[in-house]
Amino acid sequence: MSRPPALETGFTAMVDRASELRRSLLAWWQVDGRQAIPWKLNPDGSLPADGEPLDPYPIWVAEVMLQQTQLPVVLPYWHRWMEAFPDLEALATADEQRVLLLWQGLGYYARAHRLHQAARQLLTGRDLDGSGPWPPTLEGWQALPGLGRSTAASIVSSAFDQPEAILDGNVKRVLARLTASPRPPARELTRFWQLSELLLDPARPRVFNQALMDLGATVCTPRNPRCGDCPWRGSCAAYAAGDPVRYPVKEPPRTVPFQVIGVGVVLDPAGRVLIDQRLNEGLLGGLWEFPGGKQEHGEAITATIVRELAEELAIQVEVGEELIVVEHAYSHKRLRFVVHLCRWLEGEPQPLASQQVRWVEPGALDAYPFPAANARIIAALRQRLDGGALPEGFGPQQPGDRRSVA
Ligand code: SF4
Repeated sequence: MSRPPALETGFTAMVDRASELRRSLLAWWQVDGRQAIPWKLNPDGSLPADGEPLDPYPIWVAEVMLQQTQLPVVLPYWHRWMEAFPDLEALATADEQRVLLLWQGLGYYARAHRLHQAARQLLTGRDLDGSGPWPPTLEGWQALPGLGRSTAASIVSSAFDQPEAILDGNVKRVLARLTASPRPPARELTRFWQLSELLLDPARPRVFNQALMDLGATVCTPRNPRCGDCPWRGSCAAYAAGDPVRYPVKEPPRTVPFQVIGVGVVLDPAGRVLIDQRLNEGLLGGLWEFPGGKQEHGEAITATIVRELAEELAIQVEVGEELIVVEHAYSHKRLRFVVHLCRWLEGEPQPLASQQVRWVEPGALDAYPFPAANARIIAALRQRLDGGALPEGFGPQQPGDRRSVA
């Protein structure tokens, strides 16, 4: 085989070994691979033969779920999803809130929005060119919302056994170790794509890609690689160097911004709680939450809550005791939610910075999709309500209570 000109030291050694690496990986997968992943099987539960197509819909849903989440976490979500939306049409015509509810807990909600949006796009355009709703090429899949090259390649190789290389997080780690790559994977993407293409078995791309992902997920794991069980041990530069966990080389740590958010769990005299729905843009677009906002420099958290609720909902509240403090880390920022019970005083809530606001019975909160941090607030509120420990003047009005209600 001739060497691609851009391959450099560490990678060139792999060119001559590509066919042996393929053979040993496929032999390993035949015995130790994950062969029961439900969306990779025929309807009768058997593994597809080489070249035999599979239904792309369940694979597409699973691949999008897997973009930021591991297989064991995804499995129950995928089963629930397939029951609720068994095919493209069911998803395309589904209510957005139901889609978000079924995604609740998986995080990175933009993925759910884009999946829904892409389903509508596919349904609208189906059969226009006589090929059915599914794009026939890698480029066609990449043109759908939310699909990068690796996810699209994983879909077409899994569904249609097309020879497209993948480069997800697991594969990057394996290749970084195999070559003892001296730079972080994000700086080596071109070469890693070349290597993944070079290694791919053109005769069995579906099985090869699955085997590569399985190797990364079950043997060449981030903290404790089981090199003794690895079919590529004899060719692995990181193993030869004696310290596989040094690879992939990491980016220098960056400082992640930290913010404190004051949140009000506002109760009205009927014991209902106030929630608002975020605008559709952004990380958590379309989800519901308890109102609040960023603490300003030098501001007391109770003042933050009063100010934010006045600015964003045009209501006045009395801030009561702290309900809970929730720490939550995103990849790009860390947040601390300081949550206080609040008593609504006056003002009809207005959605000045949200799509809509609603007074809801605490028992009905499960019907609304919330971000993960809010789930802990709901649990704390329920615990407080169940214990009957609301402060004086908060929650349901008692007989004889003469608080004024607008
Ligand atoms: S030998 Fe170890 S470090 Fe190298 S690919 Fe295999 S499991 Fe990963």
